[in-house]
Amino acid sequence: MKSINKYELLEKAILNDPLHQLFDAVDAISVQGYNEDRRVIYWNRGSEIIYGYTEEEAIGQKIEDLIIPKDMSEFVINAHRDWVQKGIEIPAAEITLHDKDGADVEVFSSHVMFTNQHDKKQMYCVDIDMAETKDAQAQVSFKEHMLQTIFDATPDLFFLVEKSTKIIDYYAGSEKNLYKPPAEFIGLEIKDVLPADVAKKFKIHINKVLKESTSVTFEYELILAHGLTYFEARINYLPDYEQILIIVRDITEQHQTSQAIKQHAYYDTLTSLPNRFLSLDRLSQMLHDAERNEEKVAVFFLDLDDFKKVNDSLGHEVGDKLLIEAATRLTNAIRKTDTVGRLGGDEFILLSSALHDDNSIKTIAQSLLEVFRAPFHIDGRELIITLSLGVAVAPDNGTTVSDLLRNADTAMYQAKTLGRNAYSFFTKEMNTAMIRRFEVEEQMRNALERNEFEVFYQPQFDSKTQKVIGAEALLRWHNSALGNVFPDEFIPIAEQTGLIVPIGQYVINESLNFLNRWQTQQKSDFVMAVNLSPRQFRDKNLLKVINDALENANLNPENLELEITEGVLMTGQSYITDALVGLQELGVKLSMDDFGTGYSSLSYLRQYHFDVLKVDRSFVNGITINKEDRDLVKASIAIAHSLGLKVVAEGVEISEQLNILNELGCDYVQGYYFSKPMPGQKFLDYTENYRLEP
Ligand code: C2E
Ligand code: MG
Ligand code: MG
Repeated sequence: MKSINKYELLEKAILNDPLHQLFDAVDAISVQGYNEDRRVIYWNRGSEIIYGYTEEEAIGQKIEDLIIPKDMSEFVINAHRDWVQKGIEIPAAEITLHDKDGADVEVFSSHVMFTNQHDKKQMYCVDIDMAETKDAQAQVSFKEHMLQTIFDATPDLFFLVEKSTKIIDYYAGSEKNLYKPPAEFIGLEIKDVLPADVAKKFKIHINKVLKESTSVTFEYELILAHGLTYFEARINYLPDYEQILIIVRDITEQHQTSQAIKQHAYYDTLTSLPNRFLSLDRLSQMLHDAERNEEKVAVFFLDLDDFKKVNDSLGHEVGDKLLIEAATRLTNAIRKTDTVGRLGGDEFILLSSALHDDNSIKTIAQSLLEVFRAPFHIDGRELIITLSLGVAVAPDNGTTVSDLLRNADTAMYQAKTLGRNAYSFFTKEMNTAMIRRFEVEEQMRNALERNEFEVFYQPQFDSKTQKVIGAEALLRWHNSALGNVFPDEFIPIAEQTGLIVPIGQYVINESLNFLNRWQTQQKSDFVMAVNLSPRQFRDKNLLKVINDALENANLNPENLELEITEGVLMTGQSYITDALVGLQELGVKLSMDDFGTGYSSLSYLRQYHFDVLKVDRSFVNGITINKEDRDLVKASIAIAHSLGLKVVAEGVEISEQLNILNELGCDYVQGYYFSKPMPGQKFLDYTENYRLEP
């Protein structure tokens, strides 16, 4: 290669100085100048970057030795010569040249020809590196492709809107979720497209996005051709374009599942009322509000009277329908701001807030009782169901959810004892009753171990001969802390706590041993009547306990008479039937206690093999006073006899009662007229002496 005077070349090129200054300033573009021999006379920074040769290295070199690939050399040399000599321009073109390392460089090359003051031609090549543009183009097309794929894969809708909410573009993978066809929304503002309430939501959220330049999400619903559809809209502001991108997603399915979950977690499945959890949550909220506003909140605890009987005698399906109907009646009876919930079983709760005086609470209570006055018609049956309800008022009767609930419950129990179909306001005295109940329960836990129980005996007589035929075993409890506690108080508690099972076993063993003593002493075949509670039937050992007790006391089964109430039979549970059949097979007698106080269902008397019917003392008490009681006792005796049962009248206190019972054909009698229940030894003395009497 012929060496060139660099200075000379530069000097020649100097004419183009202002141009060179411009070229020097742009790095992104390569500008090269060549003389007529195709030697480099100018090489800017952009050329250094694109082709790798420094200005030093390039100056003086021939173009074909620098950046022209071999197979293009001849073409370039010829083209250059044609231009210099014949003025044939080299057109601009996208070509691939070489850099210093021999790697391909794609450029868009355009060329100019100058003639300098020495009349020499100088060619300037302006090359733009295509690599970046190519990249950018590739990226654009990739992004487009990717977006397309995303659009196609997502069921979401995309809307591009202006700040004015004018919709300028959209994309929808499927058009089924479009509220209107594109022709009816493109170019329109949202408010002219969507229903007013939905458009308003959009407006609010778009304003928020514009103000706070965050993205926001909100939900709305639209009625589309295929039904009510829930959407979630996500709004993003694109500041560079001053446009808003709205991405809309169909969330109907999630909405439905979450609704179902919510419904399940917070609402009762049978009645669709708020369940215990939600009811108590609302109460908590009401208490919070009421405290601020200095208002009262009333908690009504509602319990259907004798619902269990309906369930047990007519079946669960009828029971369920009754509950649903009850729920509807209650819901219709309340104010919009009140809440009715189902606590479980046949227990409902009504929460009423913003109350100012007790009179309005009374009015609500009365209206609730009223709601149940009309009979229920279920499966062609007419059922009369009443309600007992207890009321606790915040803040007077408590300020916490649990206190109010407990106190309303206590008041409800009070209403039950008042004779049902009644309401009761919580009082401090009730609290005392509750405390007493807990004390009794507490003390009863170890009463057996402490030997605090004793069985008393009350003799039973043949009404005609007035001879002692047997006795009823009645339990007594003397507790060191509480003194004498009566069965009417402690038996139900023992029943509820399950303590009746061991206590009942104690009574069976005691009374049968006593019977053995009594029979041995007085050489007569007496019968011992022992009361059995419903809970005792759930004890798998019941039959064995009774059998063992009979064997231990060396007694015949027919000397034992088990008294049960209708309540036992009404549960209709199979284990009860099994136990009753077992007892019958064992040979013990069965007696229906307290007849006339419950459903007095004759079917039970027929269904199970009863031996004795005990007319409740409330009727015996009435026979001298009113005809209805006498008629009822008369009818009961007639029916019992027709079924082959003996009749015992309990609670005989005066001779007139005894006379009437005799007239009516009652078989046996028991009551204070003869004797109160007595401790064993006293009883033995009494019967011994009674026998001796003429
Ligand atoms: P019940 O089985 O109906 O017993 C009759 C109740 O009437 C007894 O009350 C008895 O003392 C009372 N009584 C008897 N004659 C008269 C009378 O002439 N006038 C009046 N006013 N009352 C009379 P008690 O002993 O207080 O027992 C109450 C209830 O407690 C019993 O009613 C029975 O249901 C239950 N009970 C008593 N002992 C036991 C027991 O060992 N086991 C079970 N499961 N329950 C028992
Ligand atoms: Mg009894
Ligand atoms: Mg009785």
